Amino acid sequence: EVSKDIILYMEDVSVSFDGFKAINDLNLYINDGELRCIIGPNGAGKTTMMDIITGRTKPDSGTVYFGQTMNLLRMTEPEISNAGIGRKFQKPTIFENHTVFENLELSMKGDKGVWATLFATLTGEQRDTIDQVLERIGLLEKAILPAGLLSHGQKQWLEIGMLLMQRPRLLLVDEPVAGMTHQEMEKTGELLTSLAGEHSVVVVEHDMDFVRSIARKVTVLHQGRVLSEGTMDEVQNDERVIEVYLGA
Ligand code: ADP
Repeated sequence: EVSKDIILYMEDVSVSFDGFKAINDLNLYINDGELRCIIGPNGAGKTTMMDIITGRTKPDSGTVYFGQTMNLLRMTEPEISNAGIGRKFQKPTIFENHTVFENLELSMKGDKGVWATLFATLTGEQRDTIDQVLERIGLLEKAILPAGLLSHGQKQWLEIGMLLMQRPRLLLVDEPVAGMTHQEMEKTGELLTSLAGEHSVVVVEHDMDFVRSIARKVTVLHQGRVLSEGTMDEVQNDERVIEVYLGA
């Protein structure tokens, strides 16, 4: 029985690639509305963990539930996405030749294809939704600009906006601040923290200063399992974490 406060429940999850255990008895519980950061050295299993949540990789064993009732291991990748789990990869996949507004329009549920969508008249409600997302991602003034002309940071925010158009309950975000300026990082932090509560957000990130600035709770992965969990101060003072990061 999964507690109703938990949005993502992963228990005893393992997966091997050619006999190598990339995920090894992983237990991870994300609370509804939480913003959780996942850190860990290269090869720790962070990407594989995200792949399991989104259904791209099926584990060899274990339990993965979304909310109290959805068994993600019985669902396909598109079913999981439709059920309300959105994933943002590090490299943005926006439509560079379309405007910022159109990018959001094209990300609305109900896929009619690019041209049918762009020629269809939006309802007032749809227009409001897009405006709200534009405001939230700080791109209201860029709405009619081709997305290809945005800065690196703005493209990342647009892609988060495109995910928001699908109204996900859980957002998985991969290295959101890689390559960003300090100012862009600050805005990204504000955006992600503003999403928590209404959504649950899981962020995989290498930049420790950024993680410290946004996360109340951090999970350290190592060798496919949870090595440590707690506040940034707690995990940074954890002997096991120090050993792994300093290679001692
Ligand atoms: P991280 O994202 O934390 O760097 P990954 O999840 O990418 O870690 O990888 C965990 C381990 O699993 C690594 O040793 C990686 O080489 C291995 N691995 C990941 N995906 C595959 C795959 N499809 N085939 C073989 N090995 C893989």
